[in-house]
Amino acid sequence: MTTLSDINAERLWADIMTMGAIGATEGGGSFRPALSDADREGRNLFRYWAQEAGLAVTVDAIGNMFARREGSDPSLAPLVIGSHLDTQMPGGKFDGVLGVLAGLAVIRALDAAGIVTRRAIEIANFTNEEGARFQPGVMGSGIFAGLLPLDEALSRKDDGGAMLGDELARIGYAGSLPVGGRPIHKYLELHIEQGPEMEKSGAVIAAVSNSSWGCSGFIDIKGENGHSQTAAMSTRRNSLVAAAKLILEIEAIGAENEPDGMVSATVIRNWPNNRVNIPHLTKLSYVAVHSTDEGRARIVERIEAAARRIAEETGLVIDATTSHYRQRLDLSPDLSAQVLAVAGRLGYPSMMLPTLTSHDALSMHHLCPTAIIFVPCRGGISHSEQEWCYPEHAAAGARACWKWALISANEA
Ligand SMILES: [Zn+2]
Repeated sequence: MTTLSDINAERLWADIMTMGAIGATEGGGSFRPALSDADREGRNLFRYWAQEAGLAVTVDAIGNMFARREGSDPSLAPLVIGSHLDTQMPGGKFDGVLGVLAGLAVIRALDAAGIVTRRAIEIANFTNEEGARFQPGVMGSGIFAGLLPLDEALSRKDDGGAMLGDELARIGYAGSLPVGGRPIHKYLELHIEQGPEMEKSGAVIAAVSNSSWGCSGFIDIKGENGHSQTAAMSTRRNSLVAAAKLILEIEAIGAENEPDGMVSATVIRNWPNNRVNIPHLTKLSYVAVHSTDEGRARIVERIEAAARRIAEETGLVIDATTSHYRQRLDLSPDLSAQVLAVAGRLGYPSMMLPTLTSHDALSMHHLCPTAIIFVPCRGGISHSEQEWCYPEHAAAGARACWKWALISANEA
């Protein structure tokens, strides 16, 4: 039931399904990589809905979109509610989308109740959170928070050689505003959990306490070319074979570290990748997470030790490097406490949880106090066409945002 001071849960669900239909896949997911035609359509739809709600939509130079509802004191820094509309290739209907569309649900609830907040509220759609087509991910919010240089991001290329800056212009979202550089009061992001803990415990709302330690690893395996139909088996130096051994080792290291840490090899490139040639170069990469810095370092050490052992066994050269270290961030404890209090008043079972993965909120936390609200997703599955958030959980999350926003947007 919708009351005067509630969000419109039916409209929120319809919006999520409508957004999910853009770039819809046969498997029930969405395919809207950053700055693709489908991303443009998703952005256009968000802009349409925002303007329909009377919001002023602006776009900055990396394509981040902000839809603003003015407050009674425009001189005060705004409360920002947001996430991202881009998806993995393919991804689900909820990752990111829920956070942006819940922002619209909050605005509509304010309008329905005739409430003018003291501070403006802005809904953010950050560019390229997923990092699926252009790396690195969490890009738009990272630049907004001053963590990444704009020029470098604009010159990034996708696998087909398309440059990010060109693609941004092509889809009509190379905005004129500078990226960031303005005060933000607080930032709130509603997101699906992307893990199984809430479903296990029966919680409907989680306040996120902190992020984990993370890193990416890159492994180059160098073998030697040869004819794959004539070279004697004993003389072959096949880089793909060493890669296969290492992939299995990495997976086993991940399994041994669960639940505190996890790791899998996730990317493989192979040269010349031709059936009649023995591969001379194979590149692997992996992403590792752990709740502690020592645990993360231990995972990397074990992978590098495995690489040295396999290099010795196979007689190949294996180089391993790591980058993109993500440090643990502790989100604002006061804000998490507020989220739990709001959940309690709404009658939702709640819990505190760390986040294993990155979010736009982790960028924004460098600028202002930040809260992340998680709601459960079925089976903990995400980055998948199977990703699913039950309508009552989507509504519960938006309702918590609404109650939280009412407090934050009226603060002095
Ligand atoms: Zn996301």
